[in-house]
Amino acid sequence: NDTPAGQPGEAGGTADGRRAGEDLITFTDVTKRFGDNVVLDDLCFGVEANKHVTLIGPSGSGKTTILRLLMTLAKPDEGTIEVDGEYLTHERKNGKLVPAGEAHNRAVRKKIGMVFQQFNLFPNMRVLRNVTEAPVHVLGMEKDEAEERARGLIELVGLTEHLDKYPSQLSGGQQQRVAIARALAMRPKVLLLDEVTSALDPELVAGVLDVLRDIARSTDITMVCVTHEMSFARDISQKVLMFDQGKIVESGSPDKIFNDPDHERTREFLSSVH
Ligand code: ADP
Repeated sequence: NDTPAGQPGEAGGTADGRRAGEDLITFTDVTKRFGDNVVLDDLCFGVEANKHVTLIGPSGSGKTTILRLLMTLAKPDEGTIEVDGEYLTHERKNGKLVPAGEAHNRAVRKKIGMVFQQFNLFPNMRVLRNVTEAPVHVLGMEKDEAEERARGLIELVGLTEHLDKYPSQLSGGQQQRVAIARALAMRPKVLLLDEVTSALDPELVAGVLDVLRDIARSTDITMVCVTHEMSFARDISQKVLMFDQGKIVESGSPDKIFNDPDHERTREFLSSVH
């Protein structure tokens, strides 16, 4: 933790009831292998509630695997991951940690939203329905309430005039903004962003990043972001983690990592992406 809890001025807690400085996500001794390939190597780190963390590092260093573990699309071989006080893929029974049942996993997964490189919208549904579908069918929200919230989120991503269009009638950047609204509609505590602009034409990137900057500023959602857009990382994150070969090489504020990194590996990586 860079900011210990209980510092002056931070005692009031945050909107979701956590103390300032408390971790919402905790990786403890997490190892992930694919065959002989150790993709994450005894990894420990935390992400504070309401903060935005960016993962950087060369291709193959394990960044996407971290997001996949958080989405429970993969399981660690060793170690534990906690989100908002609950273990992922494990639960405590009679004081022991045991593999979790599907009900536990479903409940924890609801805390986490993800936006992918590919937008994965429902092609046969209009924009509004893309955003209301999961709140109605997964959360059991009333249709009217889901629509009212969806309209607010669609406005937040700047697509009010496109509510009734199908995804194929939108640009890639607009589709990605719908995907962001759709993820937020589930009211996740954590938003995972996996290179969300890398499938876009260059002229569409700025619009999507502007929307995310807005969300970072105007909501208290915790974000974990994998991106090659270093100026975006600098704008939104309070903390940057530099990965190499499944380990954190160094971590710190964007200012520290981008202007004055301690490690040669970080300098090499940054010069390769600039
Ligand atoms: P990054 O996001 O930093 O580019 P990844 O997390 O995608 O890195 O990948 C880390 C390593 O894990 C790479 O060597 C990759 O080949 C390997 N890997 C990722 N997913 C799989 C998989 N499903 N099966 C086998 N190897 C995988």
